[in-house]
Amino acid sequence: TEIVRLVDVGKAYGNVTALREVNLSVRQGEVTCVLGDNGAGKSTLIKIMSGLHDYDAGQMYVNGELSHFSSPREALGAGIATVYQDLALAPLMSVWRNFFLGNEIRRGPLRLLDNKRMEQVTGEELTRMGISIPDLDRPVASLSGGQRQCIAIARAIHFGAKVIILDEPTAALGVKQSGVVLKYIVRARDAGLGVVFITHNPHHAYLVGNHFVVLKLGRIALDEEREDLTLDQ
Ligand code: ADP
Ligand code: ADP
Repeated sequence: TEIVRLVDVGKAYGNVTALREVNLSVRQGEVTCVLGDNGAGKSTLIKIMSGLHDYDAGQMYVNGELSHFSSPREALGAGIATVYQDLALAPLMSVWRNFFLGNEIRRGPLRLLDNKRMEQVTGEELTRMGISIPDLDRPVASLSGGQRQCIAIARAIHFGAKVIILDEPTAALGVKQSGVVLKYIVRARDAGLGVVFITHNPHHAYLVGNHFVVLKLGRIALDEEREDLTLDQ
């Protein structure tokens, strides 16, 4: 199912055109990889879909409806969650408190579940998504970078995301931690989410992507679905 569709979307900052006639479709059950050099328009694209910036040309349809988000809250309400590089995790708080942090922000102070129950729900959800963290009372800062990414993604999924936008999730990670995150991206896709994977790393894109989009100077320079590669081509 197509969740987001951009039709001829454009965006300028003063006289700098950041995006021009961008057409893009984000579907559930797919990893859409967005590649491009610095300045190509990747951040601007994320900001439009996540409610931080409005676009100024074309149309954005979300779940079939013409949409102009005026805040991240609105984008979240439509099922689009963005995980930025800073992850919006509170490093000194426990894993389970962090898991519910987004929910408190979205729905006001949360007193619906007691601490024990929140810890339990966090454990169940992380286990379901294949993340093993034995002690959920540990501060998030004590976990690996890959685990932190996975927690931020799992949290978005738990609180209703249909599309998750990942802003260079492997950029700051080494080989092994990147592997942890890439595996998790595949798991999120297999759970039915649409994943938008912004990356500079073509190898990472190749490992997990179904759909590849390259931005160049604000335009879509390539948009291809994955085809199985054969050696005789
Ligand atoms: P960011 O895009 O980094 O989140 P904002 O969108 O809040 O920052 O912009 C803050 C101000 O900084 C803008 O009004 C703009 O003048 C300037 N600015 C931010 N990013 C850039 C950029 N890539 N090129 C030029 N100016 C920028
Ligand atoms: P990327 O994320 O691919 O590096 P951006 O979306 O940040 O690309 O930037 C696209 C273009 O828009 C660049 O030319 C950049 O300098 C410009 N730009 C981005 N944000 C701002 C801003 N807030 N103000 C002015 N120019 C900006």
